[in-house]
Amino acid sequence: MTGKNILVVAELGPDKTPRKATLTSIEFARAAAARTGGDVRVLVVGEGIAGAAQSLAAYAAKVIVADAPVLKAPLAETYAQVAAQAFVAQEAAILVMAATSHGKDVAPRAAANLGAGMASDVIGFSGPSGLGLKRPIQAGNIIVDVEIATERKVITTRPTEFNAASAGPAAGEIVAFNVAISAPKTTYVGFASVASERPELTDARIVVSGGRGLKEAGNFPKILEPLADKLGAALGATRAVVDAGWVPNDMQVGQTGKVVAPDLYLAIGISGAIQHVAGMKGSKTIVAINKDGDEPIFQVADYGLVQDLFTAVPELLAKL
Ligand SMILES: Cc1cc2nc3c(=O)[nH]c(=O)nc-3n(C[C@H](O)[C@H](O)[C@H](O)COP(=O)(O)OP(=O)(O)OC[C@H]3O[C@@H](n4cnc5c(N)ncnc54)[C@H](O)[C@@H]3O)c2cc1C
Repeated sequence: MTGKNILVVAELGPDKTPRKATLTSIEFARAAAARTGGDVRVLVVGEGIAGAAQSLAAYAAKVIVADAPVLKAPLAETYAQVAAQAFVAQEAAILVMAATSHGKDVAPRAAANLGAGMASDVIGFSGPSGLGLKRPIQAGNIIVDVEIATERKVITTRPTEFNAASAGPAAGEIVAFNVAISAPKTTYVGFASVASERPELTDARIVVSGGRGLKEAGNFPKILEPLADKLGAALGATRAVVDAGWVPNDMQVGQTGKVVAPDLYLAIGISGAIQHVAGMKGSKTIVAINKDGDEPIFQVADYGLVQDLFTAVPELLAKL
């Protein structure tokens, strides 16, 4: 029988601390629990994760810890099995993960294991009560209201749409969960991280993004890095420049890249194609620098400067 609790599956960074995205999915789960009843519980999966469990206990009444050598590598196949087993053991009705690369990998498999219906990339509730959900389709041009018809439900939430949960009044209980998972069919080969002094793109308060207007690969670091360094900003890019091989694809902002919502987004030499705008239109303040005033980026920009970027950016930098 299905219970009524909400199980949030935490995501840890390479340093084994919970990612901010997890706190946003806990915030969603709390709001969902207020509508459906039940407790919010957090599942943390990995090896040597006692520290993560401790810090997550500040946010939920119960933290379930699946700590085992076989879970050292974040394989979707094994993590989804653990998530599904913990869901049943915790008498959950809803499983929640942040719609990050990891969440998008694990949650659908957990849904399949549970025979659950799923709504992905949820951005809010569609009514004052109940579990109607809002999610974007068509590159964010249409927002649809959906309901999951199955008793068991799996939801991924868009991190930029929810605040990070604040710590609760008392630390939650930490309980160990013994996993019984079959030998994975996939093998973890390695993790190639991009070392950067800059903030993480999806967490940054300021993002400086560049597009094809920069003309050639060498101009990207030459023009944008000094500005990003001055502002303490993360660097982003359009797909056009990623496809051209100017920058690595983890810098891509948009429908098929990362969704960001910083306080300040600077779009430099970017036309504002809908697929790019889908990844940045939630930013609080958008500034566009483009030499062509008719470009669609100016429709979403709060401040626009129609000027050659090779003049405007050095001038801006000098003034900063
Ligand atoms: C299925 C699909 C998914 C996609 N996903 C994404 C995605 O996730 N992210 C994404 O970004 N795109 C995505 N795209 C691609 C998208 O449609 C655009 O092609 C891309 O965003 C354009 O990038 P751009 O703005 O850098 O280049 P362009 O559209 O070529 O724009 C360059 C801009 O630079 C300006 N410019 C030129 N010279 C100067 C100068 N000297 N000074 C100032 N301005 C100048 C021009 O006026 C122009 O506006 C996707 C496309 C498809 C079909």
